Amino acid sequence: MSEKFNVPSELPRYPRSMWRTITTLPTFPELSEDIKVDAAVIGAGIAGVTTAYLLSLEGYKVALIDAGHILDGTTGYTTAKISAQHGMIYSEFLTNYRPEVARSYYEANAEALRFIRDMVETNGIDCDFKEETAYLYTTQDDKLDSLRKEFDAYQELGIPGEWHDSLPIPVAVKGAISMPGQAQFNPLKYLKFLVEKIVENGGLIYENTTIEGSVYGKPIEAYTVDEKYRVYCNEMIVTTHYPFWNVPAGYFARLSVERSYALAVKPETSFEGGMYLSVDDAKRSIRSASLEGEEVLIIGGENHPSGKSTNTFDHYLALERFADETFGAQEIPFRWSAQDITTLDKIPYIGPLSSDYPFTFVATGFNKWGMTSGTLAGLILRDNVLRRSNPHMDTFNPGRFNDKSMNQNVVTTLKMAKELIKGKFSGAHEKISNLEPDQGAMVRHNGKKVGAYRDPEGELHLVDTTCTHMGCETAWNEAERSWDCPCHGSRFSYNGEVLEGPATDPLERIQE
Ligand SMILES: Cc1cc2nc3c(=O)[nH]c(=O)nc-3n(C[C@H](O)[C@H](O)[C@H](O)COP(=O)(O)OP(=O)(O)OC[C@H]3O[C@@H](n4cnc5c(N)ncnc54)[C@H](O)[C@@H]3O)c2cc1C
Repeated sequence: MSEKFNVPSELPRYPRSMWRTITTLPTFPELSEDIKVDAAVIGAGIAGVTTAYLLSLEGYKVALIDAGHILDGTTGYTTAKISAQHGMIYSEFLTNYRPEVARSYYEANAEALRFIRDMVETNGIDCDFKEETAYLYTTQDDKLDSLRKEFDAYQELGIPGEWHDSLPIPVAVKGAISMPGQAQFNPLKYLKFLVEKIVENGGLIYENTTIEGSVYGKPIEAYTVDEKYRVYCNEMIVTTHYPFWNVPAGYFARLSVERSYALAVKPETSFEGGMYLSVDDAKRSIRSASLEGEEVLIIGGENHPSGKSTNTFDHYLALERFADETFGAQEIPFRWSAQDITTLDKIPYIGPLSSDYPFTFVATGFNKWGMTSGTLAGLILRDNVLRRSNPHMDTFNPGRFNDKSMNQNVVTTLKMAKELIKGKFSGAHEKISNLEPDQGAMVRHNGKKVGAYRDPEGELHLVDTTCTHMGCETAWNEAERSWDCPCHGSRFSYNGEVLEGPATDPLERIQE
C-alpha cells in the first residue's frame, strides 16, 4: 500500500529509471575554462553521443557538453525498443505526403537499426541487444480499419510485415501487424561504449555545464550560463532534446511535448517474446528486459501533453492494473516517466538550424522513437558536418514546410498563448497550512499565488511558478515531485532547479 497516495498499490514510492540504476556510467568534470574545438555537441543523450562518436571517428576535435550528467535526459528513461514500426505512421505519411517521404522515413530508421546492430556485433558490446519481432495491435473494433490501412501502407511501401488475428501474449486482439527483425537493448550500456570511444578518440566531455546561448560567427561562440565560459567551435550541434534558443527558426511554435510512463514488472506468467505496442485509446507498450539475470517486463504507455495531467500518479496505477491483469505482477522494482517531443508533421528535425546558419545543426522531435531517430541524427549530422550527401537529408531537413504543418504551427502557437493566459488567471487551490508532508500545490502566500512543496521532513519550499523559458505557468507533477511547464516541457525540481530544458534558469525561490 502506498502511504502517500492511499491506494492499494505495489508501486515504488519514488521514480527511478531501471537503466540508470543498473548501469554504471563514467563521470566528467565541469567546464572551467574557455576552449576551442572543431565541433561542439551540446546535449549528451543518444543523439549527441552518437553524433560526437561519429565525428570523433572522422578525426574531428569534439567537445560533448551536458547540463547535467550524460545520458540522464530522456535517453536514460526510455523503454529502448529499436524499431522502424512507429505506430500507424506509414498510412498517415502516405495520406499527407509523397510516397518517397514515407519510404525514406522507413529506410532511414531501418538503417539506424542496422547501424546499432553492426556496432554491437563488430565491437562485442555487452548491452543485452536482442532481435525481436515488433507487433502493432488493437483490442478495439473502431481501430481495426485504421490498422488495416496501416497494413496496406506496408504493402504499398514494400515494408516487411504480416497480418495476425492473435498474439503470442495473453491480450485478446482484434488484429495485429508484425514487423520482423527489430530489436531491444539496454541503451545506456550501448551508449557507454560510444562515450568511452569518444574519449579514446581525443574528445572532451563536460558535465554540469549548461549552454545558455551562442554568438554566430567564425568561429561560433557557445557560452555557458552568465557567459562564464566560452566554447569556440567551427560547427555547433544542438542535441539538447528541446533546442535552447527560441529564435531563429521558431522551434517553440513547431514542437509539442508529451509525458509517458513505464514500469519494470516481474511477471507471474512466462513471456513468449516479442515487442508490442497498442494503437488503442489507452496505449500500451510491452517488451522484456534483463534485471540481474532475471526477466522483467517493461510496460509503458499513458501519454499526455506535459504539465497537463492533474493526477500523474494515476497513470502509473493504470499501467500497474494492466500489467497485473495481463501477466500477473509479482513485484514492481522500478517506475519512471519521461517526456519526448513531436514535430508538426511527426518527422524529426535533423539538419542545419536554418539556411542562414549553415554551421549550426539541430536534432529534435523524435516522437518517442529516439533509439532509431537519435542514431539516425548522428548519421545525418555527421554527413552535414562533412558536407557529404545523405539520401535522407531532405526528408528530415528542419527547413521543410508544407501547408499542413504551417496550419499546425498556428494551432501550436495559439495553444501556447492559451496556456500563458490560463496560467496567469487560474486560482490557487490549497492553503499552505493544509499541505501534508510530501505534498505540493499552488497556494496563496502574502497575497500572491506561489508553488509550494512540503518535504517529508516537514520543510516548506516555495517558488514562483512562472517558467523562466517563456513565462508560462508551470503545474505540479505529484508523481515526480516537479513543476512542469505545459508550453514547452521545461521541468523544475520542487525547489526550482532546472531538471529539463529548454529553460536554462531556475524558478525564483520565495522565502517563507
Ligand atoms: C517513456 C518513454 C519511452 C520511450 N520509449 C522509446 C522506445 O521504446 N524506442 C525509441 O526509439 N524511443 C523511445 N522513446 C523516445 C526516446 O527515448 C527519445 O526520443 C530519446 O531518448 C531522446 O534523445 P535525445 O538525445 O534527443 O535527448 P535526451 O536524452 O533528453 O538528451 C538531451 C541532453 O541534453 C542536455 N541538455 C539540455 N539542455 C542543455 C543545455 N542548455 N546545455 C547543455 N546540455 C543540455 C540534457 O541534460 C540531456 O542530457 C521513449 C520516450 C519516452 C518518454
